[in-house]
Amino acid sequence: MNAPLPVEVLKQHLIDPEICIRCNTCEETCPVDAITHDANNYVVDPDVCNGCMACVPPCPTGSIDNWRLVVRAEAYTVQEQFGWEELPQEKSLPLAAGASSAAVDAAGASQVASAGMAAMPAPPVTPPTPGATVPPWSAAHPYVNLYTHKTPITATVVGNYRVTGADTESDIHHIVLDFGEQLFPVLEGQSIGILPPGTDAQGRPHHARQYSLASPRDGERAGYNNLSLTVKRVTQDHGGAAAHGVCSNYLCDLARNDTVQVIGPFGHTFLMPNHPRANLIMICTGTGSAPMRAMTERSRRLLGAADVGKLMLFFGARTERELPYFGPLMKLPRDFIDINLALSREPGQPKRYVQDLIRERAEPVRQLLSDRNTCIYVCGLKGMEVGVLDALRDVVVQSGEDWSILHDALRREGRLHFETY
Ligand code: FAD
Repeated sequence: MNAPLPVEVLKQHLIDPEICIRCNTCEETCPVDAITHDANNYVVDPDVCNGCMACVPPCPTGSIDNWRLVVRAEAYTVQEQFGWEELPQEKSLPLAAGASSAAVDAAGASQVASAGMAAMPAPPVTPPTPGATVPPWSAAHPYVNLYTHKTPITATVVGNYRVTGADTESDIHHIVLDFGEQLFPVLEGQSIGILPPGTDAQGRPHHARQYSLASPRDGERAGYNNLSLTVKRVTQDHGGAAAHGVCSNYLCDLARNDTVQVIGPFGHTFLMPNHPRANLIMICTGTGSAPMRAMTERSRRLLGAADVGKLMLFFGARTERELPYFGPLMKLPRDFIDINLALSREPGQPKRYVQDLIRERAEPVRQLLSDRNTCIYVCGLKGMEVGVLDALRDVVVQSGEDWSILHDALRREGRLHFETY
C-alpha cells in the first residue's frame, strides 16, 4: 500500500478583528514586518510571520493572540483577512491516513518553530520595543476587555471644556464621562476605546479609537464613577494636510448629557507602581499628559495616607498656552512634583524640547535612575522616543555607568514604559 503524503500543517497567527482596536502597536513591534493593515483590519502575513511572539505582550487587548491550525497550502491570505468581520471557526484538518489528530497537532506546533523558522531570518537579538512589556512589580491588577465592540458600555458626558488657550491652534478638550451604576474599573495608565457613530467610506461602522485616562482609579472626582479624557481635535493629518478626524471631532463636539459608546478598559503594562516611596519620572508632550495627570492626581490623593515617592515631570509643548492643564499644574506644590516645561515656540525664548531639559537636569534624573523604586513613563508624539532614550543614555553614560545594562534592567523590571501615537 502506498504511504500517505505528509500534510504540512501551520499554526497560523491571526488577529481578532472584533477585539482589535487598530492601535498599530503590533505592526510597530513586529521585527520581521509580518503585520500590515488596510482601512478595515490588521492582519498577519503567513508567509512572513515566524511565530516569534514579539507582538503578543505589547498588544493592549489580547486580540493579537489568536492561532488556527491550517494546512499550510490553505493558510488564510492577507487579502482574505482584510475582508473579515470576525475570526473563522477552527477547521478540521484532513488527517493523513494512519495519522492521529494528536500527531497532526504536534506537527502543527512544531511546524511553526521549524518550517517557519527555517524559511525566515531569525528574530533580531535587540529588543523590538525600547520599553518594558511587563508592568512594574507592584502595579495593581488591571481589568481589560470588559466591554467589547459587540458589548459596549454607554457613558454619559458630564463635562467637556477646552484646556488650551482659545487663541491657539491646538484645540484640546477635557472630557468627563460618567458610568452611573455600571462597573467600569480602571487604573492610571490604561486607556479606553470610543466607538464613534456612523460608518466609514466602505459603509462599515467606524472602528474604535483609543484614549488614555486622564483621571485616577477612584474617578475624576474622588468617589464618583466617572473618568476623564484629554482629547486633541485632529484637523490636519500627520503631514499637515487638512483632515477631519472622525472620533476626536465627535468627542470635542459632545455636549453635557450626550451619551457615548465605550469599550475596554485596555492596557496591562503602562501602569504605575503601587508600593511606598516609588518614584515617577514622567515625560510627555500634548495629550501624552493624560496618563501623567492620572498618576500625579493618584499620588496627590495618597499624600498624607501613604509614603509617596518623588515625582519629576518633563512636559513639552510649543507654548504655555498650548499646554493642557497648565494652570492647575502650576498650582501643585514644588515639594510634591518637580515640573520642567520644555517650550519650543515661546516668543523670546530659545527652543527647548523635553530631551534638552532631561540633559539640563542630569543630576536629579541620574539620582532617580539609580533608585530601583523609580519608574519612567513616556507618552505623546511617536517621534519623541528616540530623543528621550538618547537623553537618558547620555545622563547615565556621563556618570560613568553602562546604559545598556541599566536599559535592560529597566525593561525587564517593568520600569520604562512608552505610549506614543
Ligand atoms: P482619524 O479619522 O482616525 O484620522 C484622520 C486623519 O488624521 C488621518 O489621516 C490620520 O492619519 C491623521 N491623524 C490621526 N491621529 C492624528 C494625530 N494625533 N495628529 C495628527 N494627525 C492624526 N488621542 C488623544 O487626543 N488623546 C489621548 O489621550 C490619546 N491616547 C491614545 C492612546 C493610545 C494607546 C493610542 C494608540 C492613541 C491615542 N490617541 C489619543 C490617538 C487617538 O486614538 C486617535 O488616533 C486620534 O484622536 C485621531 O482619531 P480621529 O478619529 O480623530 O482621526
